[in-house]
Amino acid sequence: MGTEYLEVVFNLPLKSCFSYSHPEGEERSASNLVGCRVSAPFGRRNLNGWVVSAGTVLPEGVKEAKPVFKILDQQPLFDQNLLELARWIADFYLCSLGEALSIMLPGGKREKELPPLGLGGVEEQHKRVLLSAEQEDARQKISKSNESFHYLYGITGSGKTEVFLRVAEEVLSQGKTVLFLVPEISLTHQMVDDLSGRFDKKPAVLHSHLTPSQKLTEWRRIQSGDAVLVLGARSAVFAPLKNLGLIILDEEHETSYKSGSTPRYHGRQVAMKRCRSSGAKLLMGSATPSVESWSMMEQGVFQRHQLKERPAGGALPDIRIIDLKKSGSLLSQDLIQAMERVLKEGKQVILFLNRRGHSYYFHCRSCGFEMKCRQCSIPLTFHKNRNRMICHYCGFHEKPLTLCPECGSMDVGYAGFGTEQVEEQVAAVFPDAVMARLDTDSARKKGVLQDTISRFRDGGIDILLGTQMVAKGLNFPGVKLVGIVLADTGLSLPDFRAAERSFSLIVQVAGRAGRYRNDGEVLVQTMRPDNPAIVYGCEGRIEEFYQFELNQRKEMNFPPFSRLIRIVYRGKQGKKVLDALEDLSDLFRKAGLPDVMGPAECPLGIIAGNYRYHTLIRCEEDFSGIHKITASCLSRTDVPRGMYREIDIDPVQLL
Ligand code: ADP
Ligand code: ZN
Ligand code: ZN
Repeated sequence: MGTEYLEVVFNLPLKSCFSYSHPEGEERSASNLVGCRVSAPFGRRNLNGWVVSAGTVLPEGVKEAKPVFKILDQQPLFDQNLLELARWIADFYLCSLGEALSIMLPGGKREKELPPLGLGGVEEQHKRVLLSAEQEDARQKISKSNESFHYLYGITGSGKTEVFLRVAEEVLSQGKTVLFLVPEISLTHQMVDDLSGRFDKKPAVLHSHLTPSQKLTEWRRIQSGDAVLVLGARSAVFAPLKNLGLIILDEEHETSYKSGSTPRYHGRQVAMKRCRSSGAKLLMGSATPSVESWSMMEQGVFQRHQLKERPAGGALPDIRIIDLKKSGSLLSQDLIQAMERVLKEGKQVILFLNRRGHSYYFHCRSCGFEMKCRQCSIPLTFHKNRNRMICHYCGFHEKPLTLCPECGSMDVGYAGFGTEQVEEQVAAVFPDAVMARLDTDSARKKGVLQDTISRFRDGGIDILLGTQMVAKGLNFPGVKLVGIVLADTGLSLPDFRAAERSFSLIVQVAGRAGRYRNDGEVLVQTMRPDNPAIVYGCEGRIEEFYQFELNQRKEMNFPPFSRLIRIVYRGKQGKKVLDALEDLSDLFRKAGLPDVMGPAECPLGIIAGNYRYHTLIRCEEDFSGIHKITASCLSRTDVPRGMYREIDIDPVQLL
C-alpha cells in the first residue's frame, strides 16, 4: 500500500486545506479517519484540526507532507452529510471550512467517557391533554402536508408547545428523528422538564454552556442513535441526527438565533437548508413572527397555521399605556397602585426593564460633558452595588465621578435608569415584599438563574424584576401583574429592526400575565405613548403592526424587500480602517454591484478601542449573483495587518 495522505482544515480564516501523512502506528486507514479531530504540526506548534478527506496522492503543488502528530478521536465526529452542511455554511456565510466546522462540532481535548446529562431524576408522569379543535386542526394539516416549511402563529398561551410535541411524537413513531430548537439556554431547562416522562428515549441536550466533554458525550449519543430527540439552543441545529424528520424552531422571532461571531449564521436559515437537503419538515412558531417570516407566510413560502385561543383558559390581559413624561418618577402612581393591589391579594408581580445597572449617563449641567467609555463610543453605566461606572461593551470601568472632568463643575448628575435603580425604588415603596432581580449581573453566579426562577414559581418571591431574561417563554401561574418599566429602551437605536423588537417585546412580556387567569393586568410605561410599535403592541393589533412595518420597510427598501450583506472593518487606527474599507467598497462598485452604501462609521463607532466602519450591500434581486460577486471581491482582498473584517450575510442588526 502506498502512502496515504490526510487533508486537514483548522479554525483559521484560511481557505485552503493542509496535507499531512498518515501517522505511523495508526491502525485505521486514512479514509476511516475522515471526520476525526487531529493534532498536527502547524508553523512551530501543534494545532487541532479536522480531517476532511483522504487520498493517496498529494494535491498539485504540494511536495511533502509531515505526519499528523496525534489522532484525537476514536470515531469520526461528522459524516459526509454534516461535511456538506459545513461546506454550505462556509460558502454562504463566507468563512473557511475550518471556521464552519469549529462552530458545529464539539471541541475540547481527547475523548474520555463521562456520564450522560439530560433529564434530572424526577420523571413526572406525563398528563396527556386533549388537543383543542384548532390545535388538532393545525397538527393534522402539518402532519399531512407535503410542504416543507410550516409556521404555527398563535397568541401567547395558545398551546403551541403541545402541537409541537404531538407532531414530534408522530415523526418519532415513524422511526425518524427530531430536533427541537429554543432561543435560550434557560428555556432548554424548562423544556427538558416538560419532556420528562413523555418520550421513551431520553432526549439529548446541546447548548453552549455545556463543557466540551459534556457536549461530546451528547454528540456521541446522537450519532449512535441512542438519542432520537435533541433539544437545544442555536448551535444544536448542527446536531448529527441521522434520518431527520422534523426541526422545531420555537420563538422564531428571537434574535438569539443569529450568531454574533464568525460565521454569523442564522439558526432558521441553517434549519431551512437542512430540511431541504434531508426532506425533513421545519415547524416554526411564535406569537410575534419576525417581519421577514410574516412576509414569507403572506407569500405562501411558509404555511401558516393559526391558533387564536388559549386552551387552558386565561383571557389576554388588559394592557394600559402610561405616559411616563407626566409621571416625574420612574414608578408611576398607576403602577404603584396596581402593585399594591396585587400584592395585597397575595399574587405576584413581574417588572421588566431591558437595561441593567443603576443609571446611564453621567452628564454635566454646566458644560454638557457626557461620560463615555474611553475605549468605546458609548456612555458608561453606573453600577451602584459595585460603585463603578462600567462599559457594557468592553468591561472597562472606573470610579464614579462627583466633579465634571472637563470644567470642574460640581453640578453633575446621573440620568437614565436601569434595573438596579428600579430595585432600589421598589424596595423603598414596598419594604415588606420579597423581591428578586434577574439580569446578567445578578445571574452571573452559577445556579442563580434557575434557583430564582423556581423560587418565583413556588411563590417564595413576590416581585420579580428583570431584563429580557424574564420575558422569554417562562410561565408562572401566580403572576397577575406585569409592569414594563420603560418600553422604549430599544426604540432610539439606529437600527431598522428597532420597532419590530419593541413591538414583540411588549406582546411577549404581556403574555406572561393572565396566562392562568382572566384578570391579568399589564402596565406599559413609556416616554413615547404615541409610537406605533408601542400602540399596536399594547392594543394587541398584531396584524396591523405587520402591515404598518412592512410599509415602512418597503418605503426604505429594507428587508424583506431587499437583502443585505454587511462588511465591518475594525482596528485601532481609524483612518487606516476607513481607507481599507473605502478601497474594498470601490472594488465592489467596480465589480458591478448596484447598491453599495458606505463606508460609514458604525452606530457603535468604537468598541474596546477599535474603530468600526461598515459598508452595506443591498440586493433587490438576484441575490445569488450579488453574493457571488461579493465573495469574489472579498477573496481578492487581503485584510491589512492589525485589522479585522466581519462579514454578515442577512444581518439582523446594524449597530
Ligand atoms: P404557547 O407556547 O403557545 O405560548 P403553551 O404551549 O405554553 O403556549 O401553553 C399554554 C398553556 O396551555 C400550558 O400550560 C399548556 O399546558 C396548556 N395547554 C396547551 N394545550 C392545552 C389543551 N389542549 N388543553 C388544556 N391545556 C392546554
Ligand atoms: Zn462640565
Ligand atoms: Zn468600553
